[in-house]
Amino acid sequence: MGTRPPAIEDVVSGHMCTGCGACAYIDASRLQMIDTATHTRRPQARADEPRLFQLPILGNPGAIESDSTSAAAVCPGINWPAAPPKPTTGHPELHAEWGPVLEIWEGFAVDPEIRFRGSSGGVVTALALYCIELGGMEGALHVRARTDAPLLNETVLSRNRESLVKGAGSRYSPASPCEELGQIENAASPCVFIGKPCDVAGAVKAREIRPQLDRNLGLTIAIFCAGAPSIQGTIELAKTLGANDPTQIESVRYRGQGWPGEITATWRDELTGASITKSISYEEGWGKTLQKHRAWRCHVCADHTGEMADVSVGDPWYRPIGQGDPGRSLVLVRTERGRQLVREAVERGYLVLERRESWVVEASQSHLLRARGSTWGRAIVSRLLGVSAPRHTGMPLFSSWWKRLGLKARLQSLTGTLTRVFKKRLRAVEHAVPLTTSGLTRADRTSNISIGAFPQGLESFLASIPEPASIPEQIDSSREPLQAASIAQETSCMPLAR
Ligand SMILES: Cc1cc2nc3c(=O)[nH]c(=O)nc-3n(C[C@H](O)[C@H](O)[C@H](O)COP(=O)(O)OP(=O)(O)OC[C@H]3O[C@@H](n4cnc5c(N)ncnc54)[C@H](O)[C@@H]3O)c2cc1C
Ligand code: SF4
Ligand code: SF4
Repeated sequence: MGTRPPAIEDVVSGHMCTGCGACAYIDASRLQMIDTATHTRRPQARADEPRLFQLPILGNPGAIESDSTSAAAVCPGINWPAAPPKPTTGHPELHAEWGPVLEIWEGFAVDPEIRFRGSSGGVVTALALYCIELGGMEGALHVRARTDAPLLNETVLSRNRESLVKGAGSRYSPASPCEELGQIENAASPCVFIGKPCDVAGAVKAREIRPQLDRNLGLTIAIFCAGAPSIQGTIELAKTLGANDPTQIESVRYRGQGWPGEITATWRDELTGASITKSISYEEGWGKTLQKHRAWRCHVCADHTGEMADVSVGDPWYRPIGQGDPGRSLVLVRTERGRQLVREAVERGYLVLERRESWVVEASQSHLLRARGSTWGRAIVSRLLGVSAPRHTGMPLFSSWWKRLGLKARLQSLTGTLTRVFKKRLRAVEHAVPLTTSGLTRADRTSNISIGAFPQGLESFLASIPEPASIPEQIDSSREPLQAASIAQETSCMPLAR
């Protein structure tokens, strides 16, 4: 076992990149995040950086080693940050499987528009808004759909309600909020950071080596996350609804506008040019399509609730949702900073929250507990096979595997991994296919330029993606061995029966 952190190209090659963007923030002059057609977002060398390694994006087969140790140091892909200490107050009984929890709340944004547009109860957006409007913070770094290319996401530092509300709702597609951490570092006063657990993990590692970022990270908010699908998930979903040409899609909303809300796509009819809007239930869209396209890294993720954050927010699925329920969020307060700001947001009229007991967490998110339980078995088999898996220092994953999974599921976590390592060719280098955004942008559409990312239509685009078998190369064996794992039991983003 080597002592240095794995280089960025090892993380990407070994299927361990979460797409958080922390490496591109820390090494911004040489690295940038790009959208890929096959995976989530990936770091790539900037065009004017000939010395730098070319990551194993298709078409760049010759990898040269990166000399950036700081990028490797902030990467959560293989080395997750060490688990925060067990609290002595609040809910220490939850620490082993949910991380530090000081308080548990259920509630919603007082602002009806934020609650309506929010993914669950709009708590994330309302809490961030409080921090900006009354909490002395300069802005909130978060993701939202690109206005010029609505299938893709961008990261913005919102300084007012209008900008922040545009990002309310979940984006079940690739996003890299850490790539813009420089905006927080350079801000005049502290800011909020919002992201998935892996994004928060990247930000936490980055603040350790960037003092000004550390000072300016005023509050970190994590959303619960069962896994982020690649862009193919959205494209397949849109096709199910009738949008056969991804270049004609004008917007996709995954949740919100109700709880959990519907997945809704709007596109232009290819022949008539008429605008068409169709929806499908969130349960069906996630269950039948999106979850199949989750990144491989997500299946070995042990932190689905953002244990490194000040505050984590998910859905209180522990009880049936009534018809027309406008939405509620489950809130885990993890740090004193989080406790103080949540309390202030309630007192100043931004949030309505009710206290909950610890059983509510497991009853709401048992699928995430099973997913965490499976990771130990998957990681062991993966390492035995010489492929990569993340390391989670201080997380007792064996006890979750033993306690939370039945005998059959435990065996599946072992045998399923064996099968999947070979079936998914995880011992081979990951080769992502870059996504050409021309044709996905509004400018292309209005100027009638039809050459795009999918010029021959979706079927031929997907058919053009090479099978992993045709991709040569094994991971450099002189490096620290990388490990990977498998999915024995699919996680779902909602309970199957409600
Ligand atoms: C990929 C994914 C998987 C999820 N899995 C679960 C799950 O297993 N269990 C569960 O309870 N909930 C899950 N959620 C939903 C998430 O927990 C809700 O967003 C959360 O309940 C917060 O709701 P809210 O109404 O308070 O947030 P909102 O007020 O709607 O704010 C949501 C915030 O999340 C940010 N955001 C949206 N998509 C992304 C993204 N892809 N990457 C980074 N930031 C993003 C937005 O910028 C916004 O600031 C998932 C969401 C995503 C995107
Ligand atoms: S820092 Fe994030 S984006 Fe960069 S290689 Fe690591 S996981 Fe991927
Ligand atoms: S499952 Fe884990 S690795 Fe995957 S997107 Fe969610 S937090 Fe990141």
